[in-house]
Amino acid sequence: MGGNEQHWVNEAFRSGWVVPLGPNVDEFERLLGEYINAPGRVVALSAGTAALHLGLVMLGVEKGDEVVCQSFTFSASANPICYQGASPVFVGSEKDTWNMDPEALNRCIADRVRATGRKPKAIVPVHLYGLPAKMNEILAVADKWQIPVLEDAAEALGSELDGKRCGTFGQYGALSFNGNKIITTSGGGALVCPDAEAAVRVKFYATQARENRPYYYHEVIGYNYRMSNVCAGVGVGQMDVLQEHVDRRRAIHALYTELLAEVPGVEVKQNPTPAFDSNFWLSTIVIDPATGHTPDEVRLALAALDIETRLLWRPMHMQPVFADAPYYGAGDVERELFERGLCLPSGSILDDSDIERTAAAIKGVLA
Ligand SMILES: *Cc1c(COP(=O)(O)O)cnc(C)c1O
Repeated sequence: MGGNEQHWVNEAFRSGWVVPLGPNVDEFERLLGEYINAPGRVVALSAGTAALHLGLVMLGVEKGDEVVCQSFTFSASANPICYQGASPVFVGSEKDTWNMDPEALNRCIADRVRATGRKPKAIVPVHLYGLPAKMNEILAVADKWQIPVLEDAAEALGSELDGKRCGTFGQYGALSFNGNKIITTSGGGALVCPDAEAAVRVKFYATQARENRPYYYHEVIGYNYRMSNVCAGVGVGQMDVLQEHVDRRRAIHALYTELLAEVPGVEVKQNPTPAFDSNFWLSTIVIDPATGHTPDEVRLALAALDIETRLLWRPMHMQPVFADAPYYGAGDVERELFERGLCLPSGSILDDSDIERTAAAIKGVLA
């Protein structure tokens, strides 16, 4: 917490706006829109997962449709596809950003059209660990096939590609303010919309799709997905420290890079070119099997020192729940990353001594 969150939460109680709408919600949306340069197009919701779900609803994804999704991600990127009764089709990652491979995406779409006679309804790329996906190439494939893009920017608030903020590349973009993300509202998310009109429609869906009549009247299925004005108060306070958090995560990443530079067989993931500017939500490493150590051995050794690390995401096409989904890979990049990678402690409150202790522990295990 930055310090001002409590003030805005108290303000919600003082004014009586303890409901899923109110001045904090409006202000949080305004500040977010300003930050990512999408004024009037951000809708605050109860979760990033809800944002992804409503993005699919807005794109008309229905039962029987296919939606292309990055395989190397958290399950929340893919689950909402199933909420709609649609089927996920997974695409593998490229080595530079660890995100959706544009060539595999093109091959996937061509094959789905051949196999089903229909185009997938949407494409869901992810900016994993904050590193932007190759959006220029992905959007070129999407344009060629005329398929809309729903960007999962849950981990990438503050990240940029070519000076443009993540969440604003696709027709829709989803943000998350879960407790572990770059800023938090305890739980929450937002959907970045193509225009103000779409934002109004998203708010309508997020508040039970109630038509404008004096009695409750419904023409479509609605959802209870709006953000609470209390949570939005936390969000307004967090906007004061958002850029500080991003700067701190980048500094933590730079320190890991420096401290682990000379360690053989350990590579700290970097921006592939200066066009990419990750928020480094999490700093990650890849451990060469030639070190004789698996990431899980390193994880357990660090856990014994009270340092928490995590393995990288297990790809969706390797999850039992998605075992039947088609998968279009590009050299098993994400499987290899899952087998070799580790997420390091990266929280904005960590100080340099925490990072030094973690780096020393990794060196100690691998020595
Ligand atoms: C956190 C996360 C989500 C879901 O956001 P919630 O706010 O937790 O629902 C979706 N996608 C990715 C990649 C995430 O990391």
